[in-house]
Amino acid sequence: MKSSLLRAECRGETHPAHEEIKMMKCVFFDRDGIINRSPGPGYVELWEDFHVQDGFVEALKVADGLGYAAIMISNQQCVGKGIVTKEYLEGMHEKLQAHLMDVCGIKLLDMYYCPHLAEDGCVCRKPLPGMILAAAEKHGIDLDKSFMVGDREGDVVTGKAAGCKTVLVSEEVVETGADYQVVSMDDLAGVLERIL
Ligand SMILES: [Zn+2]
Repeated sequence: MKSSLLRAECRGETHPAHEEIKMMKCVFFDRDGIINRSPGPGYVELWEDFHVQDGFVEALKVADGLGYAAIMISNQQCVGKGIVTKEYLEGMHEKLQAHLMDVCGIKLLDMYYCPHLAEDGCVCRKPLPGMILAAAEKHGIDLDKSFMVGDREGDVVTGKAAGCKTVLVSEEVVETGADYQVVSMDDLAGVLERIL
């Protein structure tokens, strides 16, 4: 539904219908458990506890090398609960960008987070696809050619709802609707190399 809307927008006077509009491809990455080490049942409340995973950096390099943008898609209910302020969270995300530039010279194109409580009934909280759809509209992303990578089935549901292919990173044997499953972040880059 969203991609047809985007195509319709592209059919303006400046873009004749016969002209193919090249849309961006993207890998959407969940944050906790994928970009950084999972904080367990709690939240990452301090930058000192935000540990970027080597496997993520390798995956980012592969995505970038194959012409995919990378965008973070994260539920951060800790903001709604008053555990972490919006300002501090966004500061951590800026530090994440700076860190990525330092270690591999690649940045996330954008970083989306849902600050709402589960009971708020917002449209952005995963497993709803609101953040991916917003990113697709803002950046002109072809969701058919894009991937969502997460460590929970909810991430898989989110990616599928947005029309993306999905990769679940989990060492547990689980029933999953994911297109691909890898057991560890250390295997992610190798798998992306094959499937992107
Ligand atoms: Zn939300």
